[in-house]
Amino acid sequence: MTTSLKQALKTHFGFDSFRSKLQEDVVKAVIRGDRDVFVCMPTGAGKSLCYQLPAMLAEGITLVISPLIALIQDQVDHLRDLNIPACSINSKLPAGERRLIMADLESSSPKLKLLYITPEMVASPTFQPCLNGLCSRSQLAYLAVDEAHCVSQWGHDFRPDYLKLGELRARLQGVPCLALTATAPKNVQEDIVQSLKMNLTLSFVTPVFRKNLHYDVIFRELLPNPYVHLHAFIKKALALDSGSNGQGCGIVYCRTRDGCETVAYQLTKLGILSKAYHAGLKSGDRTEVQNEWMQGKVLVIVATISFGMGVDKANVRFVAHWNLAKSLASYYQESGRAGRDGLPSACRTYYSAKDKEQINFLIRQEVGRKQAKRGSAKESDKAAITDFEAMVLFCEKEGCRHDTISKFFGDQSPNCAGACDFCSNPKVVRAQLARAAVLSSN
Ligand code: ADP
Ligand code: MG
Ligand code: ZN
Repeated sequence: MTTSLKQALKTHFGFDSFRSKLQEDVVKAVIRGDRDVFVCMPTGAGKSLCYQLPAMLAEGITLVISPLIALIQDQVDHLRDLNIPACSINSKLPAGERRLIMADLESSSPKLKLLYITPEMVASPTFQPCLNGLCSRSQLAYLAVDEAHCVSQWGHDFRPDYLKLGELRARLQGVPCLALTATAPKNVQEDIVQSLKMNLTLSFVTPVFRKNLHYDVIFRELLPNPYVHLHAFIKKALALDSGSNGQGCGIVYCRTRDGCETVAYQLTKLGILSKAYHAGLKSGDRTEVQNEWMQGKVLVIVATISFGMGVDKANVRFVAHWNLAKSLASYYQESGRAGRDGLPSACRTYYSAKDKEQINFLIRQEVGRKQAKRGSAKESDKAAITDFEAMVLFCEKEGCRHDTISKFFGDQSPNCAGACDFCSNPKVVRAQLARAAVLSSN
């Protein structure tokens, strides 16, 4: 079984081995097919393969739900390059192509293996006859729901159309269902399983704790010169003093465009070539900055959170937050771009009380605006506020940073073993808190 699975992995996808034990376990569970499967693994971990490989080994068609046509197009192009029969039905498809696909789907033995569609399309009346036909002829192998956090109102990217997928799943009795997402807190995970009406669900979740990441928090207002401080941190993280050949690189996240420009300017002035990246730049310039950083020509990119989605760079040695992240979940995701290669990497937040007030104000303003528009309050409004409070507590609490993150996501307490400032030197953390308390009472 295992050898033939490895063989299939090589034949269809050209990979010599699974990315991880977890990826292999998921694929095996999906192929067994007796239970629904929930997968929560970080971006870049290779979630797609968890349904693509089983799809190739199964009779019939795997239906893949994905939220965006652009995401779908990337995947379909990639699969076609591998000679895997995959396609998508969407509103942008020329009528001729659509007819060809439909004819294949209605035939007694379709050639297609993977059919990608948006949740809107699944729900649309034009698609129903096709879906019913596949169903009644038992030609559906699996239902895969990608970016499954979109189904949860607690998630950061809720899409109402995803809610209808529960009905779809209920209609497809006997078709194993697979839900995939990157980092979702426990409550979102439970919400996904429930909303999608999944059965006897087996969960595969990458542990939150990553021991190669060192977390610390610096109170910016206590520093005589914050830029010099940041500069020293970067020099150490990139080992610039020890004659490192500059293999590593890093990200500084700022809340505003001005912030990005200022920090990039200051770092460059202090001797580390850094460039700003934000929505205020022309898209060509943005691409260029990103490429220079990807190629290691620019060591430090100073960016708003618009940077990083889909970026999968192995040797990010540090992620610094010049301003507080808007939630602990997003902080975990953003800081988690460090150390993908498993080597020691540093994640630092520069906390400031002023930031906290400002962001708090902005979040409440945004929630208020949404409520005014809607005319009512919602559970998810509270989530924005409590998620930010969790971020603040992460900075202000005397305790292990890894522990705070793991508990937030519903994981057990990890064995930090000195991989955060509190565990490596609690006295320093306490002293910093005490000085901040003095400062704020003045
Ligand atoms: P995710 O959806 O978890 O973010 P993807 O499915 O997009 O991740 O995969 C990320 C990258 O990893 C892709 O380039 C994919 O081809 C690659 N990949 C997946 N599985 C393996 C594997 N077993 N060996 C090597 N590369 C893999
Ligand atoms: Mg993915
Ligand atoms: Zn710790």
